[in-house]
Amino acid sequence: MKQVILLRYGEIHLKGKNRGFFENILLENLRKSLADFSCKISRIAGRYLISDFSSQETRKIVEKCKKIFGFVSLSVAYEIETTLQNIEQISLEIMQDIESFAPDKQTFKVKTKRADKKFEMKSDELSAHIGELILQEFESFKVQMQNYDIELNIDIRENGKTYVFHEKIDCLGGMPVGSAGGGLLMLSGGIDSPVAGYMMAKRGLKLCAVHFHSYPYTSLQARDKVLELAEILADYTGGDIKVFLVPFTKIQEEIHQKCNDAYMINIMRRIMFRISERLCEKHNLQAVVTGENLGQVASQTIESLTNTNSVMKVMPVMRPLIAFDKLDIIKIAKEIDTYNTSILPYEDCCTVFLPDNPIIKPSIQNSIKQESFLDLENLINDAMENIETVKIKAKK
Ligand code: ATP
Ligand code: MG
Repeated sequence: MKQVILLRYGEIHLKGKNRGFFENILLENLRKSLADFSCKISRIAGRYLISDFSSQETRKIVEKCKKIFGFVSLSVAYEIETTLQNIEQISLEIMQDIESFAPDKQTFKVKTKRADKKFEMKSDELSAHIGELILQEFESFKVQMQNYDIELNIDIRENGKTYVFHEKIDCLGGMPVGSAGGGLLMLSGGIDSPVAGYMMAKRGLKLCAVHFHSYPYTSLQARDKVLELAEILADYTGGDIKVFLVPFTKIQEEIHQKCNDAYMINIMRRIMFRISERLCEKHNLQAVVTGENLGQVASQTIESLTNTNSVMKVMPVMRPLIAFDKLDIIKIAKEIDTYNTSILPYEDCCTVFLPDNPIIKPSIQNSIKQESFLDLENLINDAMENIETVKIKAKK
């Protein structure tokens, strides 16, 4: 008898001719996420099976798997050689555990799936038999066919093995990361951008991240904070994430000296977008992702969004949070565990040289005029040449 983890993936999205494509990416992501654990991964009957791990690591492996997009649920199961006696024994042991550790759970149902038709009893017969046995053995349990507390599942496979489990743990669903291509997340240190990255990764985008920093105006802690956010996100993006750290100090100083103050943020954002698009081209990524949200701040009015968007040549900008209330964004940030890091009080580059009255409806024409006071091409090339690339791995 040994413990294994059964992982189920969403059938609907994976049907059809492309099924193998999705399955392979999902398997690769699973492998990468569990790279630090000693375990075996195999495929059985449209599911993945993790085995041969230390029982001390079960909980950690389950937590990792719960964060891999594409899986809908998982169960920690016992794998036994298929014999009636083994099935009886393990069923009683599981119920014994439940009686000891979760005594409030009292109603149960046995559910059998019999892929191996050579097994001597039919599914319903076996369910009834095991149910009887449990009733004989324990006084505390009662059979109930609906709204039961415990579903004891007996899954008899064709490989001579049977899997017995009683819990289905929900996973996140979504599409396997990488199945929709690659994207570049503009990652600030704030609350919104990590959530935006999480949401696009859930739709299958493999993410890299770009962060613009204004060292020494912004501190090294601000940089560490962003790398820490990337580390948390890496759990959801296949186990790692590449972060491009772009030096933005000189650009900001130039804008501050040469452009109208009210346009400071607008011009900064236009340059961030241009650099992001170049990074996409260089690294073969197909979209830019931001945490922008309609109406949240001056740089996020329709006019501001249209203005900054207009510098993009072809790359789409994905803004999954565009219509979210801040409270809903915070709720997700807490769920994915980025919130406490995001609220650490280190300055973002956007707060350096912050004007008192930023323009709320910047006209594109005026932005272009302001930019004509800058040596745009050289500034951008210089920043591109001095990018530091850090590959961040998820925590074990
Ligand atoms: P966030 O909470 O993500 O910081 P925000 O509400 O503070 O967002 P802005 O500061 O206007 O809004 O930034 C809008 C978006 O621009 C961010 O969500 C992020 O995608 C991108 N962004 C802002 N600052 C940076 C930065 N320093 N480096 C990379 N991307 C940035
Ligand atoms: Mg911000």
